[in-house]
Amino acid sequence: MPVAPRFPPCPHPIGVLGGTFDPIHYGHLRPALELLEALDLAEIRFVPCRIPAHRGAPQITAEQRLALVRLATAGQTGFVVDDRELRREGPSYMVDTLASLREDFEDIPLCLIVGVDAFRELHTWHRWRELSQFAHIVVMQRPGPSKSFVPVLEEFIAPRMADSAALRQRLAGGILFQPVTQLDISATYIRALLARGQSPRFLLPETALAHIHERALYRSLPTLTSVTS
Ligand code: ATP
Repeated sequence: MPVAPRFPPCPHPIGVLGGTFDPIHYGHLRPALELLEALDLAEIRFVPCRIPAHRGAPQITAEQRLALVRLATAGQTGFVVDDRELRREGPSYMVDTLASLREDFEDIPLCLIVGVDAFRELHTWHRWRELSQFAHIVVMQRPGPSKSFVPVLEEFIAPRMADSAALRQRLAGGILFQPVTQLDISATYIRALLARGQSPRFLLPETALAHIHERALYRSLPTLTSVTS
């Protein structure tokens, strides 16, 4: 059921960017800064997961990934590192994270930020329909026409389409597609470069890269154990 717009409007929304961050890179950081400014967000909380629910185990520990996120975001006004998923047992489900943020920020709109590739799989997330009870969803989109999604997602999106003003009219429930500069950088590629002994310089902040070298992280790719004997 639609929620009546609030007047006066809600406070500036808080952005929530969850991820494996294995490692964090400019493909996360640059779009996050653009959203912070374009949507006039109060802050963006970077939330590294402890145990990713939708993919294989990360290559370094959650604490190591958190340390890299801290280094990479340090000094940027409005970027906040949130370690709540590391303090929670079990798989890191975003719906639990948003519920916990809602307890901390009762009267502030929350915006779950996801890349369009992650959004395409949203219907596979744990209790995915409940996400929009706790937060708006902001999809970082490549500029240009958008592609369609699976029917169940299209049905979910249609009644929730929002513009940026709507993010301050209610606490949750809207879906906004926001064009950002998309940098074709992935953590997978950075890990592969490091494993080959090549440099991922200029794909991620120098501070994070220095930490990776100091701790000799990502020196090899994980070995796949064969299932045949
Ligand atoms: P991997 O290559 O290991 O899958 P990743 O960087 O793609 O790593 P995450 O760290 O889990 O994956 O990403 C966190 C969030 O950032 C997700 O919503 C993802 O869609 C988004 N994201 C990742 N890379 C980019 C990018 N280059 N541009 C825009 N969004 C991105």
